[in-house]
Amino acid sequence: MLYLGCHLSSSAGFYNMGKQALSIGANTFQFFLRNPRGGAAKDIDNNDVKLFLDLAKINNFGKILAHAPYTLNPCSKDEKTREFARLVFADDLKRMENIPGNLYNFHPGSHVGQGTDVAINQIVEILDEVTPIAKNTTILLETMSGKGSEVGSTFEELAEIISKAKYNSVEKLGVCLDTCHVYSAGYDIVNNLNKVIEDFDRVIGLSRLKAIHLNDSMTEFNSRKDRHEKLGDGTLGLQGLINFVNHPALKGIPINLETPNELPGYANEINIIRNNYK
Ligand code: FE
Ligand code: FE
Ligand code: ZN
Repeated sequence: MLYLGCHLSSSAGFYNMGKQALSIGANTFQFFLRNPRGGAAKDIDNNDVKLFLDLAKINNFGKILAHAPYTLNPCSKDEKTREFARLVFADDLKRMENIPGNLYNFHPGSHVGQGTDVAINQIVEILDEVTPIAKNTTILLETMSGKGSEVGSTFEELAEIISKAKYNSVEKLGVCLDTCHVYSAGYDIVNNLNKVIEDFDRVIGLSRLKAIHLNDSMTEFNSRKDRHEKLGDGTLGLQGLINFVNHPALKGIPINLETPNELPGYANEINIIRNNYK
C-alpha cells in the first residue's frame, strides 16, 4: 500500500485536513499541532477527531505525522530554550494521545557550539522525560542535512540518541528520513540507494524507519544545506525520487511531501508518484 500525502495546514482541524488530503489524492498527511514557530496550540476538538478517524478508516489512511515546531531545540546551549523545548514537546505529546496510533516527528536540534556529545545527552534527557507521555504515539527523530551545528545528519548520531534513550523500543522511538536532508548530508540515494538503505539498516535498523519526507533539493549533493525543491526540479531529480519510493525496503512507510507547493502542486506530485509506483 502506498501511503502518500503532504504537509497541510492544521488551522481548519483534522476532519478538514482529511477532506483536503482526499481532494488531492492523498491518504496520509503531515501537520503542525501549533504554529511552526512554537506558539500556543489550539485545543483538540474530540468531535472533529472522531469525524476524521471515521473518514480515515473508510479511506484506508496510513498513520498521520505531526511535526514539532521548528523552534523546538532540545540541545540548545541556552537553558531557557531547552526548557521551552521540554514544555512544548510534552504538551504536543499529550495532544497526540487524542489521535492515538500516529507519529510525532522532531528535529534533534542544533548544538550551537556545545559539541555533539553534550547535545546528544541533552536530547536523550528530554526524550527520557517526555516519552512516557506518549503512550500511543511513536516519536521520530528526523534525519537532518547538517546545516550549521545540526545534530542528526549521520545515521550514527541518530543511532546513538536511540541507544542512549531509556524508552527506546521500536514502538516508542523511530526515524523519519527526509530525502532532501540525507542527500545534502552526503548519503547518495540517487546513485547508491541500496548502499544507503544497507547503511541505515546496519546502523539504525530498518524497523525504526517509520516515515519519509519526499523532497527534491535546490542544492548539490553533500552541500549540508536544507533547501527543499519541487519533485523533478532539483538535484535529486524525478527518476531518483521514483526509484527511491519504489525501493522494496520502504513499502508501506507513510510518505509526505514538503515541497514548495500549494495544494494543486501537491496534487500534481502525488499523481506523478502514484503513476510511477509499482
Ligand atoms: Fe522537518
Ligand atoms: Fe523534512
Ligand atoms: Zn528540510
